Amino acid sequence: MSLAGKVAVVTGGSRGIGREICLRLAQDGAKVVVNYVSNPTAAEETVRGIVAAGGEALISKFDVADAGLVQEAFASIVAQCGRIDILINNAGITRDGLLIKMKEESWDQVLDTNLKGAFNCIKAVSRIMMKQRWGRIVSIGSVIGSLGNAGQANYAAAKAGLIGLTRSVARELATRNVTVNGVSPGYIDTDMTSELAEDVKATILNEIPMGVMGEARDVAAAVRYLVSEEARYVTGQFLHVNGGMFMG
Ligand code: NDP
Repeated sequence: MSLAGKVAVVTGGSRGIGREICLRLAQDGAKVVVNYVSNPTAAEETVRGIVAAGGEALISKFDVADAGLVQEAFASIVAQCGRIDILINNAGITRDGLLIKMKEESWDQVLDTNLKGAFNCIKAVSRIMMKQRWGRIVSIGSVIGSLGNAGQANYAAAKAGLIGLTRSVARELATRNVTVNGVSPGYIDTDMTSELAEDVKATILNEIPMGVMGEARDVAAAVRYLVSEEARYVTGQFLHVNGGMFMG
């Protein structure tokens, strides 16, 4: 199914997994709103890639953790594009550290961006999608939300929280043809994982039955399925894309 005529907002669409999701949705016909918070050059590069491939895109800068800014940004997107059909909650950060040493600030930053950010964006689009009687919301979780990970209590809690958020909102929006799902990647080669030490990478690869890290396009393909018309009867689910690392 083509996504022609659909408007998609991808938070953190400027780099990594988000960029690949933007390119994929635009390639299939959606007009894509590329969100970022700090790096305009990366966002512009994503838009250039979309336009070079014959697609349509615009940039929207906002911090997903700031409810007021999110509301303003979504109102401005609707004013410009007329509608929002697809929301991908992809923006995410890590502030790793063992629990006994973790600063309250690190906990708050990760929860505010990775969990409250999704809540803010879902809240901003829900009414719009309900009125349209069609919508697709996909949040990017993590295998860590299912497995937990030493040094990532904040990140694991936020990603596990996304599962409860998704299942609850899926129930609330189900009668309006708005599906709410997630994709939980395993280890994907992006800026977020590029800083891992070689020995840590080797340990991780050992835990992946397929023996290799995933690529951003593997996650984008799962997102593409969940936003399609063909996935209309799938809601409240998290699709694991992790090379067999966790089978939930
Ligand atoms: P990157 O670090 O490569 O990119 C993060 C993106 O999020 C950037 O576009 C960044 O924008 C944006 N962002 C960060 N904070 C905010 C904010 N407050 N408001 C708006 N945008 C923000 O991450 P990945 O591509 O690796 O990860 C994308 C998602 O996938 C995250 O949710 C991550 O948790 C999840 N994930 C990643 C895995 C991996 O192995 N890489 C594994 C499992 C899950 P800017 O450049 O402007 O800062």
